[in-house]
Amino acid sequence: MTTKNKKLQGQVAIVTGASSGIGAGVAKALAAEGALVVVNYASSVEKAEEVLHEIKQAGGDGFLCKADVGKEADVLDMFRETISHYGTVDILVNNAGLQSDAKFHEMSVEQWNRVIGINLTGQFLCAREAIKEFMRRGVVPGRSASAGKIICMSSVHEVIPWAGHANYAASKGGVMMLMKTIAQEYAPLKIRVNSIGPGAIRTPINYAAWQTPQAYQQLLKLIPAKRIGEAEDVGRAAVWLASDDAEYVNGITLFVDGGMLLYPGFEDNG
Ligand code: NAD
Repeated sequence: MTTKNKKLQGQVAIVTGASSGIGAGVAKALAAEGALVVVNYASSVEKAEEVLHEIKQAGGDGFLCKADVGKEADVLDMFRETISHYGTVDILVNNAGLQSDAKFHEMSVEQWNRVIGINLTGQFLCAREAIKEFMRRGVVPGRSASAGKIICMSSVHEVIPWAGHANYAASKGGVMMLMKTIAQEYAPLKIRVNSIGPGAIRTPINYAAWQTPQAYQQLLKLIPAKRIGEAEDVGRAAVWLASDDAEYVNGITLFVDGGMLLYPGFEDNG
């Protein structure tokens, strides 16, 4: 692909939780389309370095940025560092997230607060800083039709209830309304905010669900497409949502789930 044809040429993208799984896949996909990628990580610098190395090997560029998205001071520093390095931010991928599972009646307030604090408050903090920068800069003709783009990593569990994961499902339901509300609030400024709702994607977060043939067969019962998703499936969706191809797309969740939301239990007539 020539430089001219790249969809995100020269745009600056922060991808949170980019040292593994979906975040790593999205970071590489955006970089392959010409974006300069800030590879955010919380703890494992080695894994983040590996992602940045792969980006550079493929002809892309970016830098590493350590920040806990649940901590306001860390998020402010990450945006300050990005803006001092590249001058602005065009794309935020609010991807960092985790699970801390428990039966609801056994769930501690620490488990609740940890998941909400990273999955939901973390997305709020990063989105707020991104919006401030998008408002400051506005639309730059020739760069993007939008003043800025935010992609929230949600889940099919923004709509599918999930027993044993009340904190996680609540965080993703919250992300849905956060995304829609800020999409509505800032659309007049040409800022676009959308979510991706992955189904089951092969990453460390759900290792137990695909690591053995038995677990994998069980998982496939939930997926009409009869395969687990890969980080690259999400990466392609993120490129599209971030690009001007999606200029008129605002406030939606794009489910990347192999049909998981299609009530697969009804496949054989219910
Ligand atoms: P993952 O565990 O590989 O990635 C999560 C990343 O978030 C890790 O790199 C982790 O270090 C980072 N992270 C955690 N806490 C952080 C913090 N406080 N600050 C900064 N980074 C932090 O799992 P994944 O599957 O790639 O998950 C990525 C996102 O996709 C999550 O939001 C998850 O909820 C969502 N998701 C995943 C699936 C799936 O099937 N894998 C499905 C739906 C949604």
